[in-house]
Amino acid sequence: MSDSLPDQTAVDAHVASFERELAAAASARDAQSLRDRYLGRKNSIVASWMQQIGSAPPDQKKSIGRYANELKQAIEARWKQYEETSRDAAPAGGVDVTLPGRQPILGHRHPLTVVRDRMEEIFTRMGFTIVEGPEVEDEWHCFDALNMPAEHPARDMQDTLYLATPMPPFQAGDAMRTMLRTHTSSMQIRYMQTHEPPVRIVVPGKVYRKDDLDLTHTPNFTQMEGLVVGEGVSLADLKGTLLAWAREMFGERSRVRLRPSFFPYTEPSAEVDISCWSCDGAGCSMCKQSGWIEILGCGMVHPAVFEAVGYDPDKVSGFAFGMGMERVAMLKYGVDDIRLFYENDLRFLEQFPL
Ligand SMILES: [Zn+2]
Repeated sequence: MSDSLPDQTAVDAHVASFERELAAAASARDAQSLRDRYLGRKNSIVASWMQQIGSAPPDQKKSIGRYANELKQAIEARWKQYEETSRDAAPAGGVDVTLPGRQPILGHRHPLTVVRDRMEEIFTRMGFTIVEGPEVEDEWHCFDALNMPAEHPARDMQDTLYLATPMPPFQAGDAMRTMLRTHTSSMQIRYMQTHEPPVRIVVPGKVYRKDDLDLTHTPNFTQMEGLVVGEGVSLADLKGTLLAWAREMFGERSRVRLRPSFFPYTEPSAEVDISCWSCDGAGCSMCKQSGWIEILGCGMVHPAVFEAVGYDPDKVSGFAFGMGMERVAMLKYGVDDIRLFYENDLRFLEQFPL
């Protein structure tokens, strides 16, 4: 940039050098920075000439202003010409590969997906296979084969959503009612029907019940079922498996406690509590001062279930467990309203780990 006062020679020299450099520009980005060097609002050649007007002696202001404007107009005209020419020369679609890329807006895993991924990772490492099954299920797989024959009171407890279309007859006999599955336990049956023991599976998936929507219930939620079958599988294996899972999921210090319970398809059955990870068992508001948090149901597979799938209950034994992933997510992240998982409110969803 010349320090001498603007005059016609200086204008001509700048215009000539602008044209020369523009012709040599290797990319649109280079051309843009060249243009900014001449015409930019700050620190450009034209801007510095404009600045000189203010400090110049009164008798020179007019001529400096004239040359500054002349230079500005000459550069602008050549720049406009360049833009038009390069637009015409641009490939179809006008893609300039030298421009910086646009940053794509990345999505975010849903908290239920985070929990499911984590659980699948833990159980996979313990040797479990992940299997999925149909959400439309027939009565036999959902109830009969799980030791819940017609009129069994446990069917009422599950508030089943039956469908209008019956299933065609299959090996168990007559055509029967279909439903949205009330639990993923029906996949225990489907898997054992098609596989010989040993079995070690977890079954994540959606289940449906005619529940009213409130803080802790929705008509559609997500379960993870586990099933292990083999020779000599014991209650100690069940407890050890759940303890290993709890330590991975909720922390090294976790302990588990089994309380007697009832499910038609396990005997004995138990509710499982995990020591409160917030107070480590001392008692706090999260565990309602008990030191324990109820988390899932489990038990040893009932012999009637093995008979339904053609396994010999005198040769094999096994355990099963099932839990609601919403409940796990609510406990793990301190969420107090299950409906938040389904409302797609970004202010909620963005609070969770990627
Ligand atoms: Zn506690």
